[in-house]
Amino acid sequence: MSRNIVRSVRRLSELQRYKPPKWAASVKDIPQHFVRLAQRNTPIHPWDLPQLPKGFSLFIKRDDLTGNTLSGNKVRKLDFLLADALYKNCDTIFTCGGLQSNHCRATAVASRQLGLSCFLFLRSPKQTTDIGCTGNLLLCKIVGSKMIIIPQLPYKHGLKQMMEKMAKEELNQKGSSVYQIEVGGSSYTGMFGYLTAFQELIEQNVLENFDDIVVTAGTGGTAAGIAIGNYLTGSKLKCHAVSVADNTAYAYSKINEDLQAGGLDVQAEEIIDIIDGYQGRGYGLSTQHELESILEISRTTGVMMDPVYNIKAVRGMLTEMKCNPTRFRGQRILYIHTGGVFDFYDGRIDTLLASSSSAAENAQQVASWGDIDDPMPFFDY
Ligand SMILES: *Cc1c(COP(=O)(O)O)cnc(C)c1O
Repeated sequence: MSRNIVRSVRRLSELQRYKPPKWAASVKDIPQHFVRLAQRNTPIHPWDLPQLPKGFSLFIKRDDLTGNTLSGNKVRKLDFLLADALYKNCDTIFTCGGLQSNHCRATAVASRQLGLSCFLFLRSPKQTTDIGCTGNLLLCKIVGSKMIIIPQLPYKHGLKQMMEKMAKEELNQKGSSVYQIEVGGSSYTGMFGYLTAFQELIEQNVLENFDDIVVTAGTGGTAAGIAIGNYLTGSKLKCHAVSVADNTAYAYSKINEDLQAGGLDVQAEEIIDIIDGYQGRGYGLSTQHELESILEISRTTGVMMDPVYNIKAVRGMLTEMKCNPTRFRGQRILYIHTGGVFDFYDGRIDTLLASSSSAAENAQQVASWGDIDDPMPFFDY
């Protein structure tokens, strides 16, 4: 290898100096560093959804493609959060979420890539350590994260304090210094992942080519970065976030917290439209219609929607386009796909796939199966 090439290879764990986009320079407490975990720029392409109401044109930004085991929106937040952990010389990451949390999986994988230990505090509806090995949990286990099964405590009132107590014990017993990441990675530092993604949108000509941006909101951290970027640039785009959290006020209050932390004198309600009413059976739960929509969209467009976030947001967006079209600023819509593909592997869609019509379509057997008595030799492809 020539010396030039050797010199240009960066170690993943190398902290890079963060220079905010010009339009964000006046924001307070800008992080100083990032690590480059997310693959970017993620592509934008037309998306021919079967139920798209007439008049609208729809494109999709593929933030499900920020990586493969590191995939989805959480990777952009971790670019900043894990950089902060490295900068503070921490060697252990604590974070929390549900048993099938995409955030916990992405944190577990990214921590390993950066040489950090990772503890996951996983909220379970049942008191058991027998959590199985499906979906995101499989990946968390493969990379060897430590898992602590906990009851369904709210983060700020119970869980945060429990984790801080355990972090002190880790320090006293093993000398580990812990960096604690809040639920969903949605701290003020994590918000810079999507504030920076807004600059990527600008470079992809989104300001000229679209009227509206639609994304899903859980904690609202992703929506916060996009809406704040949109506000700071003075862009004419209208931002919408379809809430999948049981309490929609949560997203507005999270965005308001970030606005305050950034010293910005505007209210969340003025910079983003949070769309309510599409939570279905509640956070993490699926209706039969939602699962059927996942299949329909996968089968017509080849793009997979996760059951917890994106399918609810897309169904909400389509319903609003049809019943409430003036809610949108125009008709050129960009949908941001936030990932979550491993949530499929928890088995929830299996029953639908095994149902008689779907199964008959998927797998047929040759009639002459029994007559084949000379099977193909093994390596004869
Ligand atoms: C966490 C998550 C979201 C929600 O992001 P917030 O920043 O918490 O609003 C959306 N989609 C997927 C796939 C996620 O994992």
